[in-house]
Amino acid sequence: MSLALINLSLARAHLDRAARLRTDEKALDALFATGKIFQVNKGKFHFTDSIQWLSAGAVPAGDRYFLGLDECGTGYFAINAPFAEDAEDLLTLREAGLIATEIETGAAVHAVALANWHDTHTHCARCGADTYSALGGSVRKCRNDESEHYPRTDSAVIVLVRDGDNRILLGRQKVWPPKRYSNFAGFLEPGESLEACIKREVLEEAGVRINQIEYLGSQAWPFPASIMLAFTGVVENPHDAQADGEEIEDLRWYSKESFTADLKSGELLIPPGISIARRMIEAWYGGSIDFPEAWR
Ligand SMILES: [Zn+2]
Repeated sequence: MSLALINLSLARAHLDRAARLRTDEKALDALFATGKIFQVNKGKFHFTDSIQWLSAGAVPAGDRYFLGLDECGTGYFAINAPFAEDAEDLLTLREAGLIATEIETGAAVHAVALANWHDTHTHCARCGADTYSALGGSVRKCRNDESEHYPRTDSAVIVLVRDGDNRILLGRQKVWPPKRYSNFAGFLEPGESLEACIKREVLEEAGVRINQIEYLGSQAWPFPASIMLAFTGVVENPHDAQADGEEIEDLRWYSKESFTADLKSGELLIPPGISIARRMIEAWYGGSIDFPEAWR
């Protein structure tokens, strides 16, 4: 049975990134003068019922990131600058991602991910000198040796584990709120294939081997710098499932019936709608689930 992920909130990117313009400072300046500009800092941005756009005359000093063009050719930019201490309506992607429009979400995910990276790469990895933002924020350059440093994204896999009877296996991390269960996830290690990583994570955390691996989808997860790559796999040995006792403290197999019953009784809390984990569980369940969420 193939599963389809829908409504991945943070995967709704609808701007043309127009990378060709990043080297054209004049073109960026012209776009900026009439562009849609918003401020971003430490994962937050002004959001009420939409992103609060700045007028060109009220743009704070800070690094300028070119995010792309909309269908009308309007340029979108983010300014990475600290907010005033009394600033209100500052939201994170977790809070705004479910209610923002597609264009806004795409722009905000891009801006937050870029800002997170720039904020933590202020020095050259080769020589330790200061770096500066260049090419519309798509790169940092070293002031000493002019080496270029590109934003990195950390790959994380997340796996919907099923058995031959279409039950799913969920695990509980010790650090989560009580009764919260979710899929298994972990970071790709250097030199590892995605398939090997998936098998390793599930074996480590749940003690089971999976096969019939299928790719389900992905979404950016810039908290601070990940992309979540979703897969499903089928367990060969469901009776061997056992929590590792370190990261995962408990496991549960769920049929659709027992899943529904535990959700209704409050015995089970699942991840928030912004997460790919929630959408994976919904894809298995066969529709959106209107039940309480547990925040991480
Ligand atoms: Zn350097």
